[in-house]
Parts: sequence; structure tokens; C-alpha cells
Amino acid sequence: MKRKKEENIDGELKAVRNELKALFKDISAEIHIWLFADPQKKAPYAILARQIMGLMKDAVPGFLFEEYDLKHPLAREYQVGQSPTMLIDPDRFRIKWLGAPVQEESRSFVRTLLMIGGIESELTNQSRKIAGTIDGKRRLKLFTSPTCPYCPQQVTNAVKAVIARPDLISLEVIDIQAFPDLAEKYEAFSVPRTFVDETLIAKGAQSEELFFMSLKTMEEQRFFIPDNDAPEVAADLLIVGAGPAGLSAGIYAARSGLNTVIVERGMLGGQVALTPVVENYPGLTQIGGKQLVDIMVSHALEYVSIFQGEEVLEISPAEDTIAVKTSRRRFTTRAVLLATGAQHRRLNVAGEDRLSGSGVSYCSTCDGPLFKGKKVVMVGGGDSAVTEALHLKNIGVDVTLVHRRETLRAQEHLVKNLRANNIPVVFNTEIKGIEGGKRVEKVLLYNNHTGKTETLKTDGVFVAIGYDPAVALAKNTGIELTGDGYIKHDSNHRTNIRGIYSAGDVEGGYKQIVIAAGQGSAAALTVFEDMVNPYWHKSADKTEGYL
Ligand code: NAP
Repeated sequence: MKRKKEENIDGELKAVRNELKALFKDISAEIHIWLFADPQKKAPYAILARQIMGLMKDAVPGFLFEEYDLKHPLAREYQVGQSPTMLIDPDRFRIKWLGAPVQEESRSFVRTLLMIGGIESELTNQSRKIAGTIDGKRRLKLFTSPTCPYCPQQVTNAVKAVIARPDLISLEVIDIQAFPDLAEKYEAFSVPRTFVDETLIAKGAQSEELFFMSLKTMEEQRFFIPDNDAPEVAADLLIVGAGPAGLSAGIYAARSGLNTVIVERGMLGGQVALTPVVENYPGLTQIGGKQLVDIMVSHALEYVSIFQGEEVLEISPAEDTIAVKTSRRRFTTRAVLLATGAQHRRLNVAGEDRLSGSGVSYCSTCDGPLFKGKKVVMVGGGDSAVTEALHLKNIGVDVTLVHRRETLRAQEHLVKNLRANNIPVVFNTEIKGIEGGKRVEKVLLYNNHTGKTETLKTDGVFVAIGYDPAVALAKNTGIELTGDGYIKHDSNHRTNIRGIYSAGDVEGGYKQIVIAAGQGSAAALTVFEDMVNPYWHKSADKTEGYL
């Protein structure tokens, strides 16, 4: 048994080494890492950092790694006071990495090395222009966690800034799990969170341009007026959204021979990327949401280009082509598939907006680790709330579930699991307000059976009360919606506008990954079918057209 396990670990290490070798094969320059670490045998993060650097050294030619303790003169010279801290190419850049890069952080770390090695660090023209106008020093501090799928995007932005202006910009990436005291000091109650010196400039991940604007102005920017100067792209099918529906549609459309692109303004994978555990996706009894997304994205990338961090602003249908304007460029395409998914629902109670990111969270995988050893409430009674309550309990958070009715909507086996883990559930109770100064301190609980309101002290409020369809773009394009606010479509996913289709959660119905994926592939096949054999030419017998 033990031997089998060792063989498995050896096999996995070999696979990681090979993957690293392939990723770094085009890097010609040397990459220097200095690790400052506690030499004590029991310092877990230092041990982990040392192991990861050892692995990189084995796999990547030109990766030079030296270790020093915190008393070494270099530690004083480079102002390193925490173990483990890594300095990345200290002769060229001022990038400090506090913690051991695992899970999502390992993705950020590898990407950082690729960028400083000269691969993948291209800025958009607009970001480059903004970077050129930054006229003073900026000391960036970026708080991340290993389980935060939003974080790599913000780390990438920050590293690009350091590379663009090494004369002015320095960066510290700080892992909140390894350094909870620093997270507490900076009141980083959600990740990613970005500061310049002591000033907060972003809660959450930003598009590259918004990040550069926030960095320049030293305050959070929410809007960016683009110049649209990236090269125009022509396609047969443009898919909006890279969740399971969009990714599956991309695979099927490309396999049918359509030149297909996917445009995604935020994180790849949509809600699934934030789900701690996905159960019963066919073939997989259980898998991490982010892991499933990674598999789907790698698969889709074999066939289609994904334009990430780019927001679709306008869709203008014409006779034969559709013009699509994004925050970076223009596309011309023969068809558009809206797979925009859904966005998490808010409670809409007093204090929610103000304390969002200061104890109110919609992402337990991202922010859960900040509440280890603390008390939180999880609001909701569906699969998400129960799965996430179990996840929080599992990482050492003292969680109570609050549900507005007297029975949970979640699947039976999840409810059993909840009981087996002794997670308290407060039934028939609604949150009426969230209170606190700089961070959440208490919630007002209204019992809808007794009519009484009580105050409960808590450090955090996690909200998992379902999703609303993301239909703003559809509405602006003139797509008809159902009475419930979803995209109206026929059985083949055609909308009321010729050449525009829909798939996934934005259509309503059962919200399951397998269904979204199925709808995406069905919609892609319809797009292909309509291009070969346009239904609008069969006008005499329009049984299959939009209803
Ligand atoms: P959901 O099934 O729609 O459940 C939402 C829950 O929030 C319900 O219990 C609802 O209460 C409650 N709620 C809604 N609005 C509220 C409000 N304003 N205040 C307080 N409570 C409110 O949403 P979900 O749990 O996010 O699940 C979405 C879909 O994803 C489901 O199809 C689910 O099966 C799927 N999912 C699957 C997995 C998996 O591993 N297979 C994991 C997570 C999610 P009522 O019950 O009173 O309506």
C-alpha cells in the first residue's frame, strides 16, 4: 500500500517536472530566485517553499535558486523580515513573494516566472499608454490565497506593471494563509486585495486596463473608456462567456469546422470555478470546481481562442455579419452565442454593500481561509450553501447555516453530511441587516415564525442564495426575455434575432454543469446546421424557427 502511494507520488512529480520543462522550454535567460527561510525543521511554509524551489530547479534549465536565512546581510539589504520570502530576479525587478506558492498561487508563480523570462508579458496598447504616464513610485502589496481562482489574474496584472516600469513599481505578493497577521493588519478580509503603500486600490480581480488606471490614480477605478485599438478579428461564431456552456459550445463548433472564438470578461469557468466540490459530473464522482474548469479550459484551448479580460459592450446584427464591439477591439462574426451565465444573488439588506469584502463574502473558496478559527454565518438552503458550509467547517471555520424556511432545498446526502459534521442550522430565519464598523461584527436575524429579531455576533457572512441570469447584454441587443428574466429561445437555442443563440444558465431551467455543457454543444450544432441549411430560407414551413 505504502509502496503504491510512493509510486503514485513519484509519477505525479515526474508529470509536474515534464509540464514545467515544456512550459519553460523557450526561455533563454536565467531566472534567479533567492529564498529567505527559517532554517528550523518545523517551519511548514519554509519547508514547502524549499521543496517547490527544488522541484523548479530540477525541471527548469537556467533556474538558479539560492537560500539564505533571515540574518544574512542580504536580508537586511533587501528589507526581508518574513519567512519564507522569495525575491524573484532581484537584479532586475523588485518582486517579493511571501509564502509558499501552492494551488492557485503556483499558477501565479509559474506565470510570473514566464513573464519575467520574456514570455506572455505583452501589455495591451491601452495599458502600455497608461503605464507610460505613471510618474511616481508605486509599492504594490497584493494579498492572495492558494484557493482563490480570481487571484492569478490580479497577480498577472501586478507583475506586468513591474515589468513595464521596473524603475518605479515594486510588488509584494502576500499569501494570507501563511501570513494571517499581515492580512489582519491591512484589513484584507477578502482576496485578491491590492494596495499601493497603505492605500487600497482594488478589491477583487480587475481587467488589465482597470488595474493600470487604479495603479496610476491610486484609487479604485471601476470604469474604463476603451480606444478599441487592438486588431480586428473575424470569426464564424463568437461565444460570449467561458463557463461550461461556452466552453462546450466552443469545442463542438470548432469540431464542426467553424472558426470560433470565446470572449470572457472575467474568470474562466464562471461559477464552477468558485465551487469547492462538484459532485456527479458524469465520469467524476467528486472533483474540485476549479480542477474541472481547468480540464475544460485546456480541452477548449485545443480548438478555440479565448479572449479573456475583454468585455463585450455591443452586438450589432446586420444582414450577413454581426459586428461585436468589446473593451479592446471589434469582431465581425456570422453568429453569436450568448452563454453569459448568471451572477450571484445578493441579500439586499442594510450593511451588505458597505461590508462586502469586509466580512461579507460570496466566495467561500477564496475568502474562507481568512476566517479560520472565527465564527461565520452561511446564508442559504440549497446545494451551494450546504457544500460551502461543509467546506468552511473542513478548513476550521466555526460556521452556522441560516435558512429562511424550515427545510433545506439541498440534496439529501449533503444534508446528512451537514448533520454528521454537527453544523448548526437556524431555520425559518432571515437576515435583516449586517452591522459593523470596519468589518462585520453582527447580523440581525428575524425569525419569520415567531416574529422576533435577535442579534448574533459573527465575524463573517457568506451568502449562497442562488443566481440571477446575466442578461444585460442580451437586453441591450434587443433579445426577448421570458417573464422570469431569462433569454427566450426555441428548442434549438435560437433567440428572436437571427444569428444569435443562447445556452446555459442564462436560459433558466435546471442549473447543472452537465446541462449547461449539453446546451452549449446543442447550440453549437444548431449554429452549424443553420449556416449550412439556413432555417430562415425555409420560410414556407417555419416549424423549426424561433417560436
Ligand atoms: P438554489 O438551489 O437556487 O438555492 C438557493 C437557496 O437560497 C434556497 O434555499 C433559497 O431558499 C435561498 N434563497 C434565495 N433567495 C434568498 C433570499 N433573498 N434570502 C434568503 N435565502 C434565499 O441555488 P444554489 O444552492 O446556488 O444552487 C444552484 C444550482 O447549482 C442548483 O441547481 C444546484 O443543484 C447546483 N449545485 C450543484 C452542486 C453539486 O455539487 N452538484 C453544488 C452546488 C450547486 P428557498 O429554499 O426558500 O427557496
